[in-house]
Amino acid sequence: MAEIILPDWAREVRTRFRGFMKGDAFIIKTCPYCGNTHANLELSISKCLFHCWSCDAGGGVRTFLKQFEISFEPEDVKPIAYDVLRHRILLTYEAEAEQKTSDEIITKILEKIKVP
Ligand SMILES: [Zn+2]
Repeated sequence: MAEIILPDWAREVRTRFRGFMKGDAFIIKTCPYCGNTHANLELSISKCLFHCWSCDAGGGVRTFLKQFEISFEPEDVKPIAYDVLRHRILLTYEAEAEQKTSDEIITKILEKIKVP
């Protein structure tokens, strides 16, 4: 599996909150909602969701970013699009015969979509 390229917002979260990466999630040591210090808040980079296993705060990453005034650019979606979409794209036999990959198709999709 390809290494996850952290979008700008994830880098800023990492700078602002102490924590560590675990798989595709950034684990925050002290939950900013309940103050629990046992690394219970995780932000999933590929799913764009966050959840605290202590106080049950959770939702979309954009909500989290808005609450802590961290900017989110539409362009930030592109690096994570591969991990989110790869397993959802089924190649036809023709595409497989031509040795096309899901990543190539995602690249084509991203090239066609204008960033708002
Ligand atoms: Zn919490």
